[in-house]
Amino acid sequence: MKEATLYKKEANGLVSCFLCSHRCSNIKDKGTGICGVRQNIKGTMYSLVYGKLIAAHVDPVEKKPFFNYLPGTYAYSIATVGCNFRCKNCQNSDISQAPKEGRGIAGTDLAPETVVDLAVKSGCNSIAYTYTEPTIFFEYAYDVSKLARKAGLSNLYVTNGYMTGEMLDAYYPLLDAANVDLKTFRDASYKDLCGARLQPVLDTLKKMKKQGVWVEITTLLIPGINDSKEELKDIAEYISKELGNETPWHISRFHPDYKLMDTPETTPQAIKEARDIGINAGLRYVYAGNLPGDDGENTYCPKCKELLVQREAYNILENKIIKDACPKCGTKIDGKWKTENGKTA
Ligand code: SF4
Repeated sequence: MKEATLYKKEANGLVSCFLCSHRCSNIKDKGTGICGVRQNIKGTMYSLVYGKLIAAHVDPVEKKPFFNYLPGTYAYSIATVGCNFRCKNCQNSDISQAPKEGRGIAGTDLAPETVVDLAVKSGCNSIAYTYTEPTIFFEYAYDVSKLARKAGLSNLYVTNGYMTGEMLDAYYPLLDAANVDLKTFRDASYKDLCGARLQPVLDTLKKMKKQGVWVEITTLLIPGINDSKEELKDIAEYISKELGNETPWHISRFHPDYKLMDTPETTPQAIKEARDIGINAGLRYVYAGNLPGDDGENTYCPKCKELLVQREAYNILENKIIKDACPKCGTKIDGKWKTENGKTA
């Protein structure tokens, strides 16, 4: 256990946490916050998951997904148990919901130095904090991030975006890129689907952009929940006008999972129509997710429409981008296209 950061000691031995936007307040002795992994022990808040890895894999960055950030490279991907959301469609509920569902805090102890060492030895260019919500293991991610930066690795968050502004300030400038889930554009749906609210996620997106973090956004298209044309148009226009049309938007296909086993999977046609809405809103990069071999996995030049990066699932079949630009018309292609050592990714 490690003493938490971003919390406040209150009167009578209570503690209040401001790591994420649930802002759990006045937690009593022995009590935990909504995430189930931060506990008040005699007036001090502790992270119960510091250094306790439940998953560590070498993944293509495309799997996170990042499509405009170091394509063709690998991310050393880590997670602890726990999450501050309770999404009905969670694909990793066995680990994300474990503490809340009484399955305890499992994991293998791994020091931050070891994580970075393993990442370097396995040829990764980055460390991804992923699978569960990395905000809830912030203290550990922070210590790993500092060492990763020194070793020349990028730090990537794959997140629900529910961290507070205080957390992003504390993390600055170690975070290089984030893929943020924008799960719906309706507050009521956020509450029903995940037990959360929309506005804090929008606040995170704006703050990350302001901080210079490379941001990509993912929306899992769930039939009957967030797939109306009006809602998709609202999302696309928000990204385009408020965040910038260089922000990639990944629209992913839903498959029945966890508590949404009776909801049908998304059709390829629905993904195509959603992509069209994004492109019509002026977004330069709108991608299809969970549709291997679909055209929507590729990166095209936003100006001359030249095929620049051809993908199949997580594999890069061809990358024609030269010096961050389209080789045909010279338009600058947004994102990060080279690794730190100067090699073309
Ligand atoms: S990180 Fe956990 S304890 Fe802290 S505010 Fe969020 S849910 Fe509550």
